[in-house]
Amino acid sequence: TEQNDDMKNLKVKENKIDAKKQYANERGSDKDHLYIVVIGHVDAGKSTLMGRLLCELGEVSQKTLHKYEQESKKIGKQSFMYAWVLDETGEERVRGITMDIGRAQIETKTKRVIILDAPGHADFIPNMITGAGQADVAMLVVDATRGEFESGFDFGGQTREHALLVRSLGVSQLAVAINKLDTANWSQDRFNEITNKLKVFLKQAGFKDTDVTYVPCSGLIGENLVKPASEPELTKWYKGPCLLDVIDKFNVPERPVSKPLRISINDVFKGTGSGFCVSGRIENGVLKKGDKVLVCPTKEMAEVRSLSINDLTNNVAFAGDQVTLTLSGVDMQNVSVGYILSDPIEQVSVTTRFEARIVVFNVKVPITKGFPVLVHYQSLVESANIVKLKALLSKSTGELIKKKPRCLGNNSVAVVEIETSRPICIERYKDVKELGRVMLRVAGVTIAAGLVTDIIST
Ligand code: GDP
Repeated sequence: TEQNDDMKNLKVKENKIDAKKQYANERGSDKDHLYIVVIGHVDAGKSTLMGRLLCELGEVSQKTLHKYEQESKKIGKQSFMYAWVLDETGEERVRGITMDIGRAQIETKTKRVIILDAPGHADFIPNMITGAGQADVAMLVVDATRGEFESGFDFGGQTREHALLVRSLGVSQLAVAINKLDTANWSQDRFNEITNKLKVFLKQAGFKDTDVTYVPCSGLIGENLVKPASEPELTKWYKGPCLLDVIDKFNVPERPVSKPLRISINDVFKGTGSGFCVSGRIENGVLKKGDKVLVCPTKEMAEVRSLSINDLTNNVAFAGDQVTLTLSGVDMQNVSVGYILSDPIEQVSVTTRFEARIVVFNVKVPITKGFPVLVHYQSLVESANIVKLKALLSKSTGELIKKKPRCLGNNSVAVVEIETSRPICIERYKDVKELGRVMLRVAGVTIAAGLVTDIIST
C-alpha cells in the first residue's frame, strides 16, 4: 500500500503541474475574467447605473434601448429605462425592484467583467449572498441625495449590511460609487461628508483603505462612468478616474487552479436533454468534460457530461469560472444548493461540527451557549447552534482575554464551536480560503461572520 500511496501522490503532483500549464495555454492570451457584485440600499440607483454603463459601452442595441424607452414612457416611469436593461422579467418591471441576479458583461482595457447584480431589498439578502459568493470584487452604490444616503446608511438601511456581507464572503476590493451626485449639484462637501463616514465604517468592516476607491458619478445622466468627468461643477474639484477605469484597476485574485477540485453549487435544475444541470463556481482546481466528481456531503459519484462557462460550451474550466454542468450517475433529488462537487481523491471535509473565530456585530441579546443561528456558507443555509464559547479574544491583537466566556456581546471577537443540524461540507480557512468563511444570521439579520479554524470529526 505504501507503493500505492506513492503512485497516488505522484499522480496528484503531476495533475497539479498539468493544471498550471493548461491554464496558461487556455487563458494566457485572454483578457482576465473578473466577477463583480453590485451592492447597496434599494433605490440607490444600482440598476440604472449598470444599465447606463452597458449602454455607453455599446453592449445594448439601439433597438432594445428604443423598446425600453417606449415601454417605460407607457407606464410613466421613464427614468427606469436603463434599469430595465438589467431587469429582465415582467414582474420585476412592475414592482421596480431587482429580484434575481442579472448577468451582464462589459469589457475594460484589460478585463472582461461579469456583473452580478444583487437585489437591494431586505427580503432578498439570500439571493445577494449567492451573488456575492461568486464575486471577486464589489461595487457599492450609495445615493448622495441629502437624506437618502443617511437612510440607507444610518437608519437600518442595507448599505452596512451589504458591505459586511461581501467582506465576510471574501471580497476585499471595493469601488464605491457616490451616485446621484447631480441631486447635490456636484458638491465636493457632500462627497467628502459621505466618503468620510464610509471610510470609518469600511475600515471597521475589514476593508483596507488602499483597497477602496470612491467615485463621484450619476448613473442617470451618465456622468463620470466611462469617460473622464465633464460636468463643470464636478471637474472643478475632481480629477480622479471614471468608474470604468476604477473597475479596470481592480486586481484579479489569483486562481487556485492546482488545488484539489471544489465547486460550490448555487443552482440545480432540469436540463433539456438527459441528466440534469447544476451551476456553481469553481473555487479550486480544474474541471474537464467527462471528469468524475464526488457530490458532497452525500458522497455519490457523478460524471460531468457537458460543461459551459458563462453560457458558452467548453471542454475545460478553471478556478474562478462560473460554470453550468450536466451531471449523470446521480439522481437530481440527491443534489442541493450548497453542496460541493469535490475531487474524488482529495475530498472536501464533511462534518456537523466545526470551530470558528467570529466577530459579533449585531446581536440584540448576547450570544450564550446553545444560541440558535442559521449558518450561511457559500450558497448553503443550515440551522445550527453555537454549542461552545471557547475563548474571548482581543479585537486589536487577537490575544486571549478570557477562556470560556459566559456570553458574547456586540463587537466581540471569539472562538466558538458550531454544530449544524445536518452534515455540511466545509474547510479550514487556512486550507481553502473560499470555503472557510461562514456567516451567522438570526431572523434575517447578520449577527456575526467568521473563519473556520478547525473541523471537528463527529
Ligand atoms: P436600485 O434599486 O438601486 O436598482 O435603483 P434604480 O436604478 O431602480 O433607481 C432608483 C431611482 O433612482 C429611479 O427612479 C432612478 O431613476 C433614480 N436614479 C438612479 N440613478 C440616478 C442618478 O444618477 N441621478 C438621479 N437624479 N436619479 C437617479
